[in-house]
Amino acid sequence: MKIASDLHTHTIYSHGKGTPEENVLAAVRLGLKRVAVSEHGAAHAFYGVRGEKLRGLRREIDRLAAKYANDIEVLMGYECNLTGYGLCDAPEDRGLFDVTLLAFHKGVPPRDALARSALAEALGLGRADPERIAEALLAAADKYGIDILAHPGAYVKADVATLAKGAAQLGVMLELNASRVTFTPGEAQLAAALGARFVVNSDAHTPGRVGDFKAALDFAKLAGVPVEEWRPRA
Ligand SMILES: [Zn+2]
Ligand SMILES: [Zn+2]
Repeated sequence: MKIASDLHTHTIYSHGKGTPEENVLAAVRLGLKRVAVSEHGAAHAFYGVRGEKLRGLRREIDRLAAKYANDIEVLMGYECNLTGYGLCDAPEDRGLFDVTLLAFHKGVPPRDALARSALAEALGLGRADPERIAEALLAAADKYGIDILAHPGAYVKADVATLAKGAAQLGVMLELNASRVTFTPGEAQLAAALGARFVVNSDAHTPGRVGDFKAALDFAKLAGVPVEEWRPRA
């Protein structure tokens, strides 16, 4: 299947190399129907985009959406950070975003014991409880209306069965990330059997990688799991 949306791209607003407009133009050239700039959430100590900079990015996305309205749909995304059990750094003002992703990252100060255990695992200093990590992600996704769980299992293991069942219930999609596939074929098959729906994103940090889904699509084919397009909730 031809994927027409890339909802996970970074720019110079965080640690990407291109401007939002360069990402949009790259997506237009590939014939994509929808592209989002999804910068790192505010809690990330190094790459977090917050405050006036975040509002400035929203204005830039609005400008690009209008300028390229005939070519592509341009969306404002946000890659929120899990900061604790059921906690993330999605701002109060949900209207700022068209699509939200959630993931655990290093470089984010933990707000509770769960996040401390995740950070310890990410740093190779301990092991977190994979079921609790999955539950923590799902609780935050539910509370904050998250659309997509980005690269699940990166940095800290999340129990795939728990995550898949919960995501299916909540209507949250699981990302097959083309920069780093975080599932084994067996895990992806299990998740699909439990009702999880997969979306494919590039996680591009350069305009040249926008819309590059190859690794994720190759994986989906190998594992025999279906991928779907994300669509805004009605
Ligand atoms: Zn990420
Ligand atoms: Zn990312």
